[in-house]
Amino acid sequence: MGAELYNKIRRILFNTANDPQKGFSVAYEWLEQTYKSQLGPKGYAGILAELKFYEEYRKEFSLTVAGDMGEHADFSGLYGSEATRFDVTTNLSYKDFKEYEPFMGEGIKYKIAFFDADNFSLIDVLELGFEKCECGGYMIPFVLLLGENYNSKGWSQWTNDQLIMNICSNGCDFNELDRHVHHFLVSPSEHISDLEEIMTLEEIENERMKYCLDNYKYFRREYRDDLMAVAEQGYKITGRKGEGFWTFGFHFVNKAVSDMMPEDVECGRLE
Ligand SMILES: [Zn+2]
Repeated sequence: MGAELYNKIRRILFNTANDPQKGFSVAYEWLEQTYKSQLGPKGYAGILAELKFYEEYRKEFSLTVAGDMGEHADFSGLYGSEATRFDVTTNLSYKDFKEYEPFMGEGIKYKIAFFDADNFSLIDVLELGFEKCECGGYMIPFVLLLGENYNSKGWSQWTNDQLIMNICSNGCDFNELDRHVHHFLVSPSEHISDLEEIMTLEEIENERMKYCLDNYKYFRREYRDDLMAVAEQGYKITGRKGEGFWTFGFHFVNKAVSDMMPEDVECGRLE
């Protein structure tokens, strides 16, 4: 069964359900009697779950049925007061965070309505991609670009280390997962340190962002394709005499998680 036929049947059944003269009972009847055999088992289960979700939650989540052109969700609506897209599935193992990532951004939440036996559970899309922290947050992987390496005599080693880490979205925990060493892969601050003379502040900022984005793509491709951010360490001054603490400065954050990266997490000096 092709997507075109599936979408056509879906459209007919939702129009039927929305029609006050017909309603859900007629939609279910047509599904069973007319369309079940055309849809095949998987398509049938999918549309049945969508209809049930719509019937059960359309008021609670102010659902509207998403069209089949270019929208990556079955319904849009409100979760609490937030605009949210809902994707209904009967088999969670078909779902992959990477499918959703390009469509995620600030302001749009995705929830997966997983239909199991005769119950729906609502699952945050982030749960597909990231481990959960004990506190309920998500462990978000990122790369930390460290400054130049020196030996005990203070001589430059002409190398920099990069740490693959993860951090809880609530800021309660972080871990070093892996370490890499590169020649000429400097920290973002080192990269822009000689540009003050020849560039405006805005140009420098753009250059730093471009540098972080290039490295983001590189590390994602080479080492871990679920990396979500590029950071370097910064010292945050809190007192007049220079007291303060070391923290992660996230220069680039993938928009899929951009509203959930923690700020000012005290991490000590990492090297
Ligand atoms: Zn946590």
